[in-house]
Amino acid sequence: AKVWTLRKHFVGFPKESDFELKEETLPELQNGEVLLEAVFLSLDPYMRGVSSTLMKEGDVQIGAQVAKVLQSKNPEYPVGCYVVAPCGWRTHSVTNGKAIFSLHMRRIPHDWPKNVPLSLNLGALGMPGLTALYGLEDILQVKPGEIVLVSAAAGAVGTMVGQICKIKGCKVVGSAGSEEKVAYLKELGFDCVFNYKTVKSLDEALMQASPEGYDCYFENVGGAFFNAALNQMRPRGRIAVCGAISLYNATTPQMCPFPHMAMLVKSIRMEGFQVTQWPEKDEASVRRLLTWLKEGKIKAKEHVTVGFEKMPAAFIQMLKGTELGKAVVKVE
Ligand code: NDP
Repeated sequence: AKVWTLRKHFVGFPKESDFELKEETLPELQNGEVLLEAVFLSLDPYMRGVSSTLMKEGDVQIGAQVAKVLQSKNPEYPVGCYVVAPCGWRTHSVTNGKAIFSLHMRRIPHDWPKNVPLSLNLGALGMPGLTALYGLEDILQVKPGEIVLVSAAAGAVGTMVGQICKIKGCKVVGSAGSEEKVAYLKELGFDCVFNYKTVKSLDEALMQASPEGYDCYFENVGGAFFNAALNQMRPRGRIAVCGAISLYNATTPQMCPFPHMAMLVKSIRMEGFQVTQWPEKDEASVRRLLTWLKEGKIKAKEHVTVGFEKMPAAFIQMLKGTELGKAVVKVE
């Protein structure tokens, strides 16, 4: 089996030399265990965020994969079935299915449609899609007619936030970092999209996009954008804090001039969350997302890199955000 390990903790933006490719000998299967072969591996921003807190140098890089069960001593996961497993950057793994860092192994339904790529279990129909769904339903509790703002809107989570908002009858405004992304989000049905890198003022862009302000903000970026968004919230607005991607590669602690007064005066409610909080709902939620996909209510784009040896390069590219579509690596 091949594995990618963390050779050196990241300082600032990760470099390919921070990773090391190794060979691993797998143990014999014990009762309750399965042997997995990775088919697709996921690349996600949280891998940058948690590496310094949860990982030691030399550890296998964390992450989820779609894998095929090659051998099984666990009746829940028979040979030939596919799973989403939190086994890290490995081509092959032996696991008993226990959660790793709150990431759970789940079986992909045996009746998964042939024309829906299995890799979507890592994107629109997997963790990022569930993040969008839970953030909108459980945290923000959006209602028809409300105005929702989402940052990093062209990302795996953001594209799903916007499309689910439209299913729910909300007006949705998104921000993204290139004209290609802006055009794609309009195609997906976003009511208004702007390029946060080229606008003269974030405050003005947010005001123009929705002069009446925002009932809800799905926060993915942190930093200056967060402050500008907070200032445009409507009274009794709600904010779901999902991520802070603009801060993950910072080498010095970032000071956000946090607008306490805006929160206080407008009685805004802000709540952080993690997609792993509702494991009991995941299976049914994936089926809901799959139904929306089959009905044409949501679309999913992927950026697929081929080759396990390209994991670090593809990870760094994902963090730069230059490509459109959920970043995944096909093993061969
Ligand atoms: P993606 O990699 O798919 O997209 C992220 C996008 O963020 C990029 O495409 C890029 O687009 C944008 N971005 C990158 N750097 C910056 C920056 N400095 N400032 C503003 N935008 C930037 O990521 P996901 O959609 O999977 O994740 C989005 C957020 O959600 C992340 O913060 C992630 O950590 C968080 N998350 C949280 C979860 C939870 O359980 N709470 C679960 C999953 C994700 P652009 O060109 O527009 O800049």
